[in-house]
Amino acid sequence: MQKNDVVTVEIEDMGIGGEGIGKVDGYTLFIKDAIIGDVVEAKIMKAKKNYGYARLMNIILPSEYRAEPKCPVARQCGGCQIQAMSYEKQLEFKEKKVRNNLMRIGGIPGEVLDAVFEPVCGMDMPYRYRNKAQYPVGRDKNGRPTAGFYAGRTHQIIPCLDCSLGVEINGDILRIILDYMEQYGIEPYDEEQHRGLVRHILLRYGFATDEIMVCLVLNGRQLPHTEELADRLSRIQGMASITVCVNTDKTNVIMGTEIITLWGQSYITDYIGDVKYRISPLSFYQVNPVQTRKLYETALEYAGLHGVETVWDVYCGIGTISLFLAQKAGKVYGVEIVPQAVADAKMNARINEIGNVEFYAGKAEEVLPEFYANYAIEHPGKQARADVIVVDPPRKGCEESVLETMVQMQPQRIVYVSCDSATLARDVKYLGERGYEVVRGRAVDMFPHTCHTECVLGIQRKHM
Ligand code: SAH
Repeated sequence: MQKNDVVTVEIEDMGIGGEGIGKVDGYTLFIKDAIIGDVVEAKIMKAKKNYGYARLMNIILPSEYRAEPKCPVARQCGGCQIQAMSYEKQLEFKEKKVRNNLMRIGGIPGEVLDAVFEPVCGMDMPYRYRNKAQYPVGRDKNGRPTAGFYAGRTHQIIPCLDCSLGVEINGDILRIILDYMEQYGIEPYDEEQHRGLVRHILLRYGFATDEIMVCLVLNGRQLPHTEELADRLSRIQGMASITVCVNTDKTNVIMGTEIITLWGQSYITDYIGDVKYRISPLSFYQVNPVQTRKLYETALEYAGLHGVETVWDVYCGIGTISLFLAQKAGKVYGVEIVPQAVADAKMNARINEIGNVEFYAGKAEEVLPEFYANYAIEHPGKQARADVIVVDPPRKGCEESVLETMVQMQPQRIVYVSCDSATLARDVKYLGERGYEVVRGRAVDMFPHTCHTECVLGIQRKHM
């Protein structure tokens, strides 16, 4: 096979990025936007020795799993990867991905997974689920200010004011901001030249409260005619917070660190279950509130609390899981690396009048081992113990020193919440070799139409 060859291929499998996989005379091709079951015509773009990447040219025979994407730019936009696949098939793909990793990397036999895994938890309505949208701002073909999303792997903006994963009101808000920019000649930011003012527009929506947040990320501190913009935006029902975020660095990190309030409050509030959270533009907050609730309820169920337990919530963010667990635990300790998130966690504990939580700012791989070592010094002859440990690490999973200390603390149960089942499987293998077995499990679809998935495992200490 060579570059520019055009081949006909049947798609038999899907890669971890949602791309279709097919074979031509034993040569494997990865084809973005092709769906399992399709027969397609594809042009080879990059040919390696045993495999290559091809571009979908024509669908010759559409797969029975094809679905009409809701979004007109589903294929160009880098946000979604599998919108053209039926939602049922998406769920099957995600569950399979999690289970494959647990078998292949984690060494857990398929029969065990069959016995402990619950059906994948999908959404009833898998569109308009996101409470957060970050639109880069640029210029359209005619040079007018526009907003949209980056195409896959590039910083080319695909104009799109109404992403089908976000709430409908986002389009109205963006139109107000873009009209205002055009009217007053306010420049969108140009990444290459590091010139212009408006870089990104961050929108958040409290699903439980209907409160709206608008934050304009600026290459500067001043927005001309601020009052006019604030006046127009504040007429939108539910508007609660209009801010700017200063980011004058030549960087592709979206947010800066300084927030200036233009109108209303500097935050919005939202609920997950009965717990109230205060969310500022810089806070991490799960983007899919409907599924987050199911995820946390699953975690709480797997934790098996009776109101007296000592629980650790490692990688706790703004304390979302910690506060959820605290309602049923004796005491919850949270650990989180971002100091601002810890401050938010403490504030969230206060506004909910939850007293049985304590938060530590620092790296889990330092805080947890130090806590364990100090405890032994302060309580001679004793050892720090936990009844339940919940971890929800970033994609790279837990550091070995975190896992090591967890095992030393001898919890009855570990609840592992993961956004990357490959590192989850690696960590489960480590725990498995030290007396912990997987007894519950469930994939939770937090990100319909993308290839990402979340997973919760209930892990139990074997009686030895
Ligand atoms: N449980 C929270 C957040 C999960 S995201 C929720 O559901 O909302 C993972 C969190 O781990 C992030 O808040 C990130 O800042 C934090 N984190 C990343 N590396 C860390 C480390 N080495 N030690 C502690 N926390 C870390």
